[in-house]
Amino acid sequence: MSKACFKRILLKLSGEALMGEKGYGIDPVTVNYMAEEIKKAYELGIEIAVVIGGGNIFRGVEAAEQGIERATADYMGMLATVINALALQNALEKIDVNTRVQSAIEMRELAEPYIRRKAIRHLEKGRVVIFAAGTGNPYFTTDTAAALRAIEIGADVIMKGTKVDGIYSSDPFKDPKAKKFDKLTYMDVIRDSLKVMDSTAITLCMDNNLPIVVFNIRKYDNLKKIILGQKIGSIVLKEVQYAGVQEES
Ligand code: UDP
Repeated sequence: MSKACFKRILLKLSGEALMGEKGYGIDPVTVNYMAEEIKKAYELGIEIAVVIGGGNIFRGVEAAEQGIERATADYMGMLATVINALALQNALEKIDVNTRVQSAIEMRELAEPYIRRKAIRHLEKGRVVIFAAGTGNPYFTTDTAAALRAIEIGADVIMKGTKVDGIYSSDPFKDPKAKKFDKLTYMDVIRDSLKVMDSTAITLCMDNNLPIVVFNIRKYDNLKKIILGQKIGSIVLKEVQYAGVQEES
């Protein structure tokens, strides 16, 4: 059997990853697909933590623009991530993957509170740990939560599952000339304002030298293939030997 290249990963899924083609909320078929993809990675024997977003249900910034006070709107957004975490937990448990949800905002009836050492223990015991409620603080994003949790648990890499094949010079859905990057540095991402993660998340990764892989989670087996060493998607590192930009396939 081929060997996994990582021991412990943090997978970041946006809330949109759970909504499928519906445009809002949770699509059960899509959640089941995500769970299957995680299971394939899990069966390679690596430790997996997941941070899930909430944008399919509620986004603080947008709600704030419509008049809800920003901090309140952000707390509402964090609650949305808990709904998604429970949906993903349910889908994983249905296919015999052991999980724990840890929430950055205490709600003990549904999830454990976030306790770093306990999260690590769960990982060591082969449980997928789903981190809910972001960082627990308004004015942050779940990308920043992903960076923070990944560093805290000593993950080897953040894998950001998206609906595109990697990091592009511009939005590939809107710009047919968008170029895909193979490897980039954190500074490239910050300087060119590339859409990878928000700047707080990127600088946190940069300061702690945590690699970020951005890949298309909608492509069957992609997560597993990356863990087995295939060069899929784009990687952000401290230093890269430039391979140049790739043409969009
Ligand atoms: N959020 C927050 N603090 C955090 C993480 C998230 O306030 O640490 C709120 C914020 O309002 C955000 C919402 O939760 O808009 C949903 O998270 P995000 O937009 O990051 O989800 P994604 O885009 O990944 O689906």
